[in-house]
Amino acid sequence: MGGREVTTTTSRSGLDHETLDMLLSAIQEFADRNLSTELMLRLDHADECPIDLVRKMCSDDLGVHLLFVPEEYGGLGGGSVDVCRVCERMAGIDLGIATSVLATALGSDPIVVGGTAAQKKLWLSRMAEEGLLFAYGATEPEAGSDLGALKTTATPVKHDGQLVGHRLNGRKQWISNGSIADAYCVLANAPGGPSWFVVERGAPGFTQAKPEDKHGIRLSNTAALFLDDVLVDGAALVGGVEGQGLRQAQQVFGYTRLMVAAFGLGAGWSALDKVIEYSAGRIQAGGPLSEKQGYTHKLIVPHAARLEAARAYVEQTAERLDDGEGVLNTEGAIAKYLATEAGNAAAEAAIQGHGGYGYTREYLVEKIKRDVRITTIYEGTSEIMEMTISRDRWQEHLKTRGRYYHDRADALDQLAGSAPDLGAATAALGLRALAETLEWCRTGRLTRQQHVLLRIGELIAYAECAEALCRRAARAADGALGPKADNRFDAAALAVLARVFARDAALRVATEGLRLVCGSAETALPELTTALRVGEIAASQARGLADMDALATILYGRRGEAS
Ligand SMILES: Cc1cc2nc3c(=O)[nH]c(=O)nc-3n(C[C@H](O)[C@H](O)[C@H](O)COP(=O)(O)OP(=O)(O)OC[C@H]3O[C@@H](n4cnc5c(N)ncnc54)[C@H](O)[C@@H]3O)c2cc1C
Repeated sequence: MGGREVTTTTSRSGLDHETLDMLLSAIQEFADRNLSTELMLRLDHADECPIDLVRKMCSDDLGVHLLFVPEEYGGLGGGSVDVCRVCERMAGIDLGIATSVLATALGSDPIVVGGTAAQKKLWLSRMAEEGLLFAYGATEPEAGSDLGALKTTATPVKHDGQLVGHRLNGRKQWISNGSIADAYCVLANAPGGPSWFVVERGAPGFTQAKPEDKHGIRLSNTAALFLDDVLVDGAALVGGVEGQGLRQAQQVFGYTRLMVAAFGLGAGWSALDKVIEYSAGRIQAGGPLSEKQGYTHKLIVPHAARLEAARAYVEQTAERLDDGEGVLNTEGAIAKYLATEAGNAAAEAAIQGHGGYGYTREYLVEKIKRDVRITTIYEGTSEIMEMTISRDRWQEHLKTRGRYYHDRADALDQLAGSAPDLGAATAALGLRALAETLEWCRTGRLTRQQHVLLRIGELIAYAECAEALCRRAARAADGALGPKADNRFDAAALAVLARVFARDAALRVATEGLRLVCGSAETALPELTTALRVGEIAASQARGLADMDALATILYGRRGEAS
């Protein structure tokens, strides 16, 4: 993806903010011109990918594909922040089309991170100039989450003892752009190990199944691929050396998962904006639904807070990637996990908030709900994210002898000292409860239970996103948010959001921590509740309702006391 030399530690700032703003506006204008609600609903109903439209987006008409191509190959060389903003905007329009466009970025990724100079020049230049559509062929019928189980083979072909190419045999499953791409990066087992190969559409023996009939993202093409003795020459092996495939895939997960996280944000906010507008005009029991606390505080407010916590994490991770901090796979997993779960939950609430109308197609929220559902599945399921997050942070806990989250909490407490109204002290309590949960799990050897391990992954995501939102609120208060940052909420609103989410996260860590430890081992309950600081976390819930009232006021644009 754009600005994607993610294996290097060089800093890449990507687009300037004026160019990014222009691109975001151009995407919206293109959608307004070409993709009416009626057309979207018709395509969704017909289960049809608008191929011409996707190609138009990747041509001079819009040129969104250029974002993903480095400048030296004729692209715009967008950075991670740029890509996230664009992904969010496109997902807010239609997640199926966003998936089609972004599959090209994903499909060319192995070349960007692992290709030889000649491969990069050939494929990335063609992508920029011709708007070539790519597909990313990793998943197989029996190898999804467990990619190591892949069965597609790449058998070396030799001529006079010299390696001249490979023969590919196997099947790929659920491939976005599967039947419409021009070129495919396909993962196959060579004698040296899993390797990526570039296969062109029309290669003899290479066929595509008819598109899948899907629950959602029905404007995106998804199809199986069949490789029957497909002969590729030596130039097709990405990087020219066998066995680099899984490493190359790993090198971009931090980045690609961030893109899907941005999809969750875009779709989630799109649904939430629709229900906010609807509820402001819908009169029940003598007044608009937007003024009924039981409605807003269940269906609107917590979702806005969770989405914005996820945004803070997405933005922070994207900035770190652009600063050359490495691959950040754990952070990508945290961002994807919270943003997609938040987007999915927000869309579900948006249906509920529309009542019977939400259950019909006309109001679009049921389509968004079906669409956003995929984000918790592709690019690694939520359960795989939980496992990745938990295992990686568990190592940090062990390496630092339990200090990892306490140190982060100390830093947040310092922030709370200078800025007491950002929920930082509460978020710090969440981090401390997390550190203690991990420690009690260590002494009780509880992470041998997979359930415990995965649930801890969720708690880590909540605690770290609460921390990120407090920090984002602090930056906003200092006027220090990046020029490319989303500016929907001002500093005062971000402070309210941060407090609301910090309470939720801290309470969740404490109560779930209690449940996990008590549920898996003989536990000295008084010591555990003291270690988790359950009393302090309960006390931090003070003024929670007032903050939710303030947040509802902000979200509905009503005049009132917002802080
Ligand atoms: C619309 C769509 C588009 C897609 N696009 C692409 C694409 O372009 N390219 C591509 O390569 N792939 C693509 N995929 C594939 C997608 O990435 C996989 O479906 C996903 O990774 C899950 O793999 P799976 O379907 O085999 O499910 P499985 O791995 O069988 O998982 C099934 C369930 O078991 C859980 N699970 C799996 N392993 C474990 C474990 N060890 N412990 C506990 N729980 C576990 C999972 O979380 C999930 O809930 C797409 C899929 C869809 C549906």
